[in-house]
Amino acid sequence: MSTPTTEVHNATQPQVAPAAGAVTQQLIVQKFGGSSVADADGIKRVARRVVDAQKAGNEVVVVVSAMGDTTDELLDLAAQVTDSAPAREMDMLLSAGERISMALLAMAINKLGASAQSFTGSQAGMITDGIHGKARIIDVDPHRIRTALDKGNIAIVAGFQGMTRATNEITTLGRGGSDTTAVALAAALDADVCEIYTDVDGIFTADPRVVPSAQKIDTISSEEMLELAASGAKILHLRCVEYARRFGVPLHVRSSFSQHEGTWVIPSADDKITTQEGVALEQPIISGVAHDRSEAKVTVVGVPDIPGKAAAIFQVIADAHSNIDMIVQNVSTHGTGKTDISFTLPIVEGADALAALHAAQDQIGFEAIEYNEQIGKLSLIGAGMRSHPGVSATFFKALSDAGININMISTSEIRISVVTHADLLDEAVRVIHKAFGLDTESEATVYGGTGR
Ligand code: ASP
Ligand code: MG
Repeated sequence: MSTPTTEVHNATQPQVAPAAGAVTQQLIVQKFGGSSVADADGIKRVARRVVDAQKAGNEVVVVVSAMGDTTDELLDLAAQVTDSAPAREMDMLLSAGERISMALLAMAINKLGASAQSFTGSQAGMITDGIHGKARIIDVDPHRIRTALDKGNIAIVAGFQGMTRATNEITTLGRGGSDTTAVALAAALDADVCEIYTDVDGIFTADPRVVPSAQKIDTISSEEMLELAASGAKILHLRCVEYARRFGVPLHVRSSFSQHEGTWVIPSADDKITTQEGVALEQPIISGVAHDRSEAKVTVVGVPDIPGKAAAIFQVIADAHSNIDMIVQNVSTHGTGKTDISFTLPIVEGADALAALHAAQDQIGFEAIEYNEQIGKLSLIGAGMRSHPGVSATFFKALSDAGININMISTSEIRISVVTHADLLDEAVRVIHKAFGLDTESEATVYGGTGR
């Protein structure tokens, strides 16, 4: 990935949450998710908020997602037309969702007497590679956005999309990709902060839709946030967090439905976190529990237990552009010289991966493939795991007390993940959240969204 054209933030600088109401000229990138712009009233509410930010003396760039569940509805529509949509056409279709919300928001802002212009991803200079459906940003040239700001406009940018450099093809960045658009623009424009507006008050210790007693996290390191996002916490797109960490962009995740201070994601784990009172906070041992229902489990049965076979299997999967998550290889059954290899991957990539594996069956020499979509993954994340013994013991005891059977296990330095049957996942999340003392008395507010 090439670097953004402008200076990036000094990632080693301590991030200080600005005092509420402070009037300083800043460049703010604000991203509003689908639930914040779900209908005309939502768009008008967001417009007022954006205009207020400009009136407070800031330059404002806004990135929008498609209205409500538009992207899912477009996917449903495509599925009614064909079961094999060309990836290029899918991107043409899905990128339309964000064009609707960007234009409506610009209209609503103009109606309030401020001036706004909307831009598609390609107009905003989001240059990507050519992998349709999950393109990566390779360069950002925001000169049209800079010009719009210089003329006193609020710039509205369609999230989740870009354009290839050589062929001018329209691409999308993968589900939830508007967050990444926002951070990439913030880095390229050298913005002071990237605010991610959503339908909850910030990042919680678990999804409040599953665990109503989850608590809001005030500050979290980008290292932990990366693990949460990679483990299925849908609040931030994984690549958004990677990008913010790499370019030192401070993220403030907050609700578009309230004025509450949200969660600050600070770019480096080593940064001292300073509150408004100037107190350094100690990192808690556990920061949260994430869950994921978007993966399936593939088991390749009867793989010859000789060097090179795992490499061959995973090369086939890589060539199908599939992202593997957990991997388990069983000990070979005595005397057979054969072993089973299981792994998880996104359900949406399952069909392609299976087809590719079947095509390579004779060459690799395995016996069969099993495929199961009825799984769920739970992950416990916390930087303090490194230095606090006993976390695994508490974790597995809590699951066993609840009679929850475990299918697969994987860990990192700051994460423990298990795969369970899909039906047991919610219960497992609640049990683990409780076992680590994360429950609070008060119920988290979910302001909108269908959680789809
Ligand atoms: N509209 C796209 C989606 O629903 C992108 C986004 O919301 O960030 O995945
Ligand atoms: Mg969305």
